[in-house]
Amino acid sequence: MKASEIRQKYLDFFAKRGHAVIPAAPIIPRDDPTTLFNGSGMQQLVPYLKGEKHPMGTRLVDSQPSFRAEDIESVGDNRHTTMFEMLGNWSLGDYFKADQLPWVWEFFTKELALDPARLHVTLFQGDNTVPKDQESYLLWHKLGLKDDHIHYYDSSKNWWSRAGTPDNMPIGEVGGPTSEIFFEYTAVNHDSSYGKECHVNCDCGRFLEIGNSVFMEYEMTSEGLRKLPAQNVDFGGGFERIVAAVQDTPDVFATDLFTPIISTIEQVTGKKYKGANMPAMRVIADHLRAATFMSAQGLVPSNKLQGYTMRRLLRRAAVRARSLGGDAKEIFLASIPSIIGFYSSAGFISADSASGVAELISAELDKFTSALIRGERELGKANKVNEQLAFDLYQSLGFPFEITQELTSIKLDETKFNKLLQAHQSKSRTASAGMFKGGLADQSETTTRYHTATHLVHQALVDVLGEEVTQAGSNINSERLRFDYTYSDKPSNDQLARVIHVVNQKIADNLPVTKAIQDKDKALRSGVRAFFPEKYPDRVTVYSIGSYSHELCGGPHVAHTSAIGPLELVKDENLGQGIRRIYIRFV
Ligand SMILES: [Zn+2]
Ligand SMILES: [Zn+2]
Repeated sequence: MKASEIRQKYLDFFAKRGHAVIPAAPIIPRDDPTTLFNGSGMQQLVPYLKGEKHPMGTRLVDSQPSFRAEDIESVGDNRHTTMFEMLGNWSLGDYFKADQLPWVWEFFTKELALDPARLHVTLFQGDNTVPKDQESYLLWHKLGLKDDHIHYYDSSKNWWSRAGTPDNMPIGEVGGPTSEIFFEYTAVNHDSSYGKECHVNCDCGRFLEIGNSVFMEYEMTSEGLRKLPAQNVDFGGGFERIVAAVQDTPDVFATDLFTPIISTIEQVTGKKYKGANMPAMRVIADHLRAATFMSAQGLVPSNKLQGYTMRRLLRRAAVRARSLGGDAKEIFLASIPSIIGFYSSAGFISADSASGVAELISAELDKFTSALIRGERELGKANKVNEQLAFDLYQSLGFPFEITQELTSIKLDETKFNKLLQAHQSKSRTASAGMFKGGLADQSETTTRYHTATHLVHQALVDVLGEEVTQAGSNINSERLRFDYTYSDKPSNDQLARVIHVVNQKIADNLPVTKAIQDKDKALRSGVRAFFPEKYPDRVTVYSIGSYSHELCGGPHVAHTSAIGPLELVKDENLGQGIRRIYIRFV
C-alpha cells in the first residue's frame, strides 16, 4: 500500500465517522512568535482544546506537515526525520474512549491490515492521585488484545499535560492518561546495549510507536485532580512510521516516501544505498524534502530564524552529497519534482511551485558552492583551526558549525562555538529568545495586541492604496508587527501617514472585536478579507472590528481596540515582485 493511499484512508475513515477534514496549518505558523515551525498536529487545535468553538464542529481530522529543528542532528539512523506528517483526529467534548480505541484498532487492523499479533498497546498504570486507566484496559481487552500485548507505564510515559506529570500540573491545567499503540518488527532482534530486557518502549528498534490517543479528562483544582465535565480526545499518529509499519520495513527511508529521492542519489553518485553510504543518503533525502516543502510554502533561505534553518538544511545536504562524490545540484534538481508531486497531490502545496522552488534552491546552492570554496581556502591558510575560526566562518560565510567541522580534521567543541554565538546574538539582538520557548506557550498579551492590529493595518492599506492590496504574510515579535502586502507602486510618505492615522483612529474609537462562524464561500463573497496562501476550512471564523474590518482568522484578539494602544510606523520597504513589507510598533 502506497503512502498517499494510507493518508487518504485515514482521512476517509474518520470522515465516515462524522469528522470534518480540516486543512493543515502552514509549516511556519502565522503570527506566532513562540515557535519557529509547526511541530505537531495539535498546535493549531490548542485554542479549541481549551474550549473555544471550532467552526467545523466537534469531530475533526487532518494530516499536519510538521518540522522539528531540534532533530536535525539525529537524522541518519533508520527512523529520524526533521519533517514529518502527523495524522490527527480530535473529539472536542464529543466522543471518548469507548469510540476512540475501537476506531484506532479498526483503522490499523482492517483498513491498513496490520497483523493484530504484531500490535501492542500501553496504558497509564495509575499513581497516588489518579487511578489506573481500567476503562481503556477493558476496551482493549474486549477488542481481543491479550494481556501480554497490553503494557502499563507510569506518568512519565502514559500521561499528557502541557506541564508534564500530574504532580507538576498547576491549578487550572488539564491533562489525562494516554494509550499508545506499537508495531513489532519481529525480524529485528533486541540489542542489549539498550537494556537487559526488550519492552515496547525500548529504543532498540524492535518496537515502533505508531499512534497515541490522549484522553483529556482531568483538571487540576485546589483539591487535586477532578474529572472535567467535557472531555477531549487528541490522537496523533506519525505518518512516516505508520507507512514504515504497513510496508513492513524498520527503515522509513526504504518506504515510497523516500525511495524516489534515494534512487536519484544512487544514480547521481553511482553509489548504492547500503552500509556506510546510508547515513549521508538519509540526511540528503530528509533535508532536501523539508527544504523543498518550506520553499513551496514561500520560505526563502536567509541568516535569520526559519530562513536560517532552511539554509542549514540545504548546506548540510550539499556537504553530504559532496562526501558521496555526487553533484548536489544535480541530485536536488532531479528530486524536487517528485517531492512537489507528492505534497501537492495531498493539497499542502501548489503543483505550480516546482519551477520556482528549483530556481530558488539552485541559486542558493550556487551561493553555497562559492562560499564553500572560499571557506576551504580560509581553512587552508589559517594557522590555527579553532572554535573562533568556526564562528568567524559562520559570521562571514554563514557556515553552520557542523560544516566547518566536516571540512577540518581537527575536533572542535560545539559548546564553545555556541557560547561565542550566544554572546554575539545577545549583543545584536538578532535572536528573539522567546521563539525557543516551545510550541505550546500561551499567546502573550503583546502578540494578541499586535495581531489584532494587523487586521486594522490590512483594511487601512486597502482604504488608502486601493483594492490591489492583499495580505502576503505577517510576523510578530515582542518589538513590532510586520505585514507583507501586494502593491506594485511605492506608497508616498503621505499615504503611509494616512494608513497609520486611520489605524490609530480605529484604536481610539474603542471598537468591539466580535466573531461569527460562517460558510467560507459566503464570507469571501461578502468581501471578508483573508490571507490567501493559507487554506481555510469550509466553515470559518470571521473576526469583525466594529463595522470597519472583517477577516477570516483563528484568533486570539483583544476584546476592544483601545487595548491595542497607539502605534507608529517604523518603515515600509520593497521586497520585490510586487510585494512590500511594512513595520509598525507601539509608540
Ligand atoms: Zn529492545
Ligand atoms: Zn486575527
